[in-house]
Amino acid sequence: MLGLMQDWPLLCTKILDHAATYHGGRPVVTRTVEGPIHRTTYADIHLRARKVAQALVRDGIGFGDRVATMATNTYRHLEAWYGILGIGAVYHTVNPRLFHDQIVYIMNHAEDRILLVDAPFVPIIEANRDQLPKLEKVVVLCGPEDLPASGLDLVSFEDWIAPGDGDFAWAAFDENTAAGMCYTSGTTGNPKGVVYSHRSNVLHALAVSVPDMLNLSMNDVVMPVVPLFHANGWSLAFSAPLNGSALVMPGARMDGEAIYELLETEKVSFTAAVPTVWLMLLQHMEKHDLRLTHLKRVAIGGSAVPRAMIEKFQDNYGVEVIHAWGMTEMSPIGSGGTIKPEYRHLTGAAKVDLQLKQGHPPFTVEMKITDDAGKPLPWDGKTFGRLKVRGPCVARSYFRGEGGEILDEQGFFDTGDVSTMDPHGYMHITDRAKDVIKSGGEWISSIDLENEAVGCPGVAEAAVIGVAHPKWDERPLLVIVRKEGADVTKEQVLDHLASRVAKLWMPDDVVFVDEIPHTATGKIQKMTLREQFSDYKLP
Ligand code: ADP
Repeated sequence: MLGLMQDWPLLCTKILDHAATYHGGRPVVTRTVEGPIHRTTYADIHLRARKVAQALVRDGIGFGDRVATMATNTYRHLEAWYGILGIGAVYHTVNPRLFHDQIVYIMNHAEDRILLVDAPFVPIIEANRDQLPKLEKVVVLCGPEDLPASGLDLVSFEDWIAPGDGDFAWAAFDENTAAGMCYTSGTTGNPKGVVYSHRSNVLHALAVSVPDMLNLSMNDVVMPVVPLFHANGWSLAFSAPLNGSALVMPGARMDGEAIYELLETEKVSFTAAVPTVWLMLLQHMEKHDLRLTHLKRVAIGGSAVPRAMIEKFQDNYGVEVIHAWGMTEMSPIGSGGTIKPEYRHLTGAAKVDLQLKQGHPPFTVEMKITDDAGKPLPWDGKTFGRLKVRGPCVARSYFRGEGGEILDEQGFFDTGDVSTMDPHGYMHITDRAKDVIKSGGEWISSIDLENEAVGCPGVAEAAVIGVAHPKWDERPLLVIVRKEGADVTKEQVLDHLASRVAKLWMPDDVVFVDEIPHTATGKIQKMTLREQFSDYKLP
């Protein structure tokens, strides 16, 4: 017997319809790429997204075609996404910070037909235009007055959508239709395309909005600092309008001063980004002795959140940290570190210990940890193994089948992370499988060591890698960038660590560098560091 409920396909455009109908006047504020603040509403974004749809149709773009965006978070980028979604085309977010050959590779692999690009990134396309034979048109996300001079045939977004009147009915199709694409960084081999569906995006937005995940509400002012091109923009382009939350789009400036200004002037209550962004904000606020008067919650993920960051936000600024974990392949949020009743009694350092874990999964995410042979391991908070996930917002294969079969016999996807699970379902990442340091049979977590090291006064950033050792196979080497003007020494760092980590985990050596290399999404580039120190002789 079938249920007798209506067939209402879960399409992303329904989210914007809802926002425009019931929260139409809610503000969407952008720091434009050109500089000035721009204000609009969901109702207007809805209208202009339909004009985008009309422009795409006029250009012959249709169902299933890929449309690339290489852009920061602005209202135009949002309008572009929904316009693309509204004709059944597929948004493909391209990270402008990738190496040019990677950009060329993924744009060709996705067969992007049109590119919508922020003006500052036009030179990237100019330099590689010859290598993008499938690309038919470049639209710059600006008005005609800001269109950059270029050898390319460019059109401004405003001119491009101007002929449309917005009288456009969204296309109707199955909810499993492809909605968007995002390529993983691909630390080994070529980047691989993750293809989201309308259904997975809608389910994911619902799943992460609930009180015990991001706790989004129409009373929130949400600022996604995480770019739309990083792992599906952490779904905020869907979850914020779904809840009718006001939006603040920070555009191109992510420095501490710019972010602080928007948090205060626009009364942002919820924001999200990787730790590097918050490091810049905290340094700015400390330097100028500033306070946060509106911000209530900050979701931090993408890499492990250091203890000092949680403590500063919570103790010094009264902002609750939600430590989140996820992957491009998971739409992307896989867990959040909100406090369960079982742990309500925790205070002070013990509460922060819990928040250092990546948290528990929302409904729609199933987790297991296994040994290398695939045997499930116990959830005792100590035993660690390969973290595997399953659910309607988790990839089942990469675009064009790259990388072959990616699921185990039970349909779980191997995240490439190593983690523990505790009896209450809190997951704690020990390390990426390829970064964990294997020392004489013992596994040492580079993440834990880094977290403790950045708590040492004078340390701005820390990275730990395994270096070959004749007796132990590998031993940890701690690489440090000092804070500006600090003169912290190796002995001081080791002293700081001695009381905090097991003797066996103590780094064999500490080196100071001017800069630690980062990936295009702001993570420490361990592979490059390992190459840099491949011949390093430990004392
Ligand atoms: P990119 O490397 O392009 O950012 P992803 O966002 O897909 O690609 O990266 C996912 C990986 O990032 C995870 O598998 C995990 O190793 C790491 N990661 C994400 N969030 C956290 C976190 N809170 N703590 C530790 N590692 C994290």
